[in-house]
Amino acid sequence: MPYDSNIYLTKRDVKEIEKSISFFCKECSKVENPDCLNHNGRVDVLKFKIRDIPWSKRNQILSAALSWDGNDMRHFDGDYYVRECLKFIIIEAPWGPTNDLFLTTIGEELGGALESLVPTPLRDVNSGDGLKKG
Ligand SMILES: [Zn+2]
Repeated sequence: MPYDSNIYLTKRDVKEIEKSISFFCKECSKVENPDCLNHNGRVDVLKFKIRDIPWSKRNQILSAALSWDGNDMRHFDGDYYVRECLKFIIIEAPWGPTNDLFLTTIGEELGGALESLVPTPLRDVNSGDGLKKG
């Protein structure tokens, strides 16, 4: 079969997606409270424009997130990994630029939803091969 770049190259097109963000009241459980926006649960639907992260770019971020002791991996900075991936993946979002300032100030509802956009690093981190000190 001839080489087909459509199969192997990262898709360059920007995708439009919607994410549902669920909010639940954590402050005043069990008591009715009409002034509390999240009291009975609430779902926001946010629209984003995202792009795929190329294999090499993801590896760069992964490498920078790892610290080494000789040939042994000592520490994986998951927060750094997720933030750097999101800054690359998200092209356009309702809040404006996706930067460290934004990402370090959002709550777990939005943070959890955004995290689902990030490719998992665990396959590489756990396998031991495939990732060696560069
Ligand atoms: Zn409430």
